[in-house]
Amino acid sequence: MNSTIISVGNELLMGKTLNTNLTYIAKELRMMGIGVAKAYTIQDHATAIRAALKHADDPIVILTGGLGPTPDDMTKEVVCEYLGLTLSLHEPSLHAISTMFAKYGKVMPESNRKQAYFPLEAEILDNPLGTAPGMLVKHQNQTFILLPGPPNEMRPMLDLVKPLLLNQRDVEIEQEGFLVAGIGESEMQDKLEGFEAQHPLVRIAPYAGVGEIQYIFTSTNKDALHKALEAFKAKFNRYIMGPYTETFEEILVRELRLRGETLSAVESCTTGLFSGRLGNVAGVSEVFKESYVLYDNDIKIKTLDLHPSTLASFGVVSHEAVRAMAESLAQKTQADLTLAISGIAGPGGGSPEKPVGTVLFGVHYEGQTHSVERFFPGDRQTIRHRAVAYAFYLLICQVKRHGC
Ligand code: AMP
Ligand code: MG
Repeated sequence: MNSTIISVGNELLMGKTLNTNLTYIAKELRMMGIGVAKAYTIQDHATAIRAALKHADDPIVILTGGLGPTPDDMTKEVVCEYLGLTLSLHEPSLHAISTMFAKYGKVMPESNRKQAYFPLEAEILDNPLGTAPGMLVKHQNQTFILLPGPPNEMRPMLDLVKPLLLNQRDVEIEQEGFLVAGIGESEMQDKLEGFEAQHPLVRIAPYAGVGEIQYIFTSTNKDALHKALEAFKAKFNRYIMGPYTETFEEILVRELRLRGETLSAVESCTTGLFSGRLGNVAGVSEVFKESYVLYDNDIKIKTLDLHPSTLASFGVVSHEAVRAMAESLAQKTQADLTLAISGIAGPGGGSPEKPVGTVLFGVHYEGQTHSVERFFPGDRQTIRHRAVAYAFYLLICQVKRHGC
């Protein structure tokens, strides 16, 4: 089953606001086995909304934005006019909106009344975080869902309609998969030669990201899906970081938590990007002890109590330097797992021996210290993000004993 997503909002077309609602809804639908056939991002303009609706011929049509109180918010009015539905006052919504104002000691302005008007045919979707209720209406063979633009309001309201969408799917689609790292997409493709032929009832789709690939398996046959997943696991276990629904940082935090272990890091060329990603995970404080962003060599020596000759003889982007940093960090912070990243992100600073894109990783775990040198092609930001992804890969391999 397919859907159309229509994102309404001038700000989305002015380079002001990133259309995160689209990616969020598309991902949520994908996890339910519902595809997105088309997506339109349009202005708060009646002609634009009508034009998008004309093309929205999928069984599910989701619109976000334009449910506010001002005259430029017109999504609901235009959709209802397009479908031939009449709006009338929905008393419970008016009550909910005025209560929301009262909660903040305010009287509801007259302009907000229009947010309480809905067609009788619609199911109203309460918005506990804002003044714009949403709605769901079935029209001929289609379901139209209108949600407010602010992502924090839209997300819980999408959760409300998920069970209804699941009921509408014509066939039950099962979906599972893995987050894979440490191997390129084309190398994986070669290794997967013949795999799909052995699992004809299962569709296997790779989605490559920065330093990671999601392998998503879909099938209408549960057993066939299970067999394919098991076969994939047996063949590629060393590259499997976790389920495809999780991020690197979620997997690493979960694995450390399971073991009751802790982590510390020292970053230079990634300037805290690694630590920042860890911060995405709620409850990370249980496993994350501390991190340093150290650029200046003297400060590195002083903070980590390094032997000055290590940096002087081998350079800071060297196996010796990252190993010394990872070991010293383990001593200093008493963390079970430590990471040191040092590299040349460019565009300057490269040499024939160590070109821009060279990154060294030092890892200390269970009394052993390893170092790895990698070369990441690309511009400064790509190199830094790829280095962070590789660091997560290395650490997950360490704790899972994948032996990479
Ligand atoms: P609304 O009043 O419902 O049109 O939306 C108000 C606010 O929601 C906008 O100012 C944006 O900051 C945010 N917003 C609207 N649409 C989107 C979207 N597609 N993705 C992310 N944020 C959005
Ligand atoms: Mg708007």
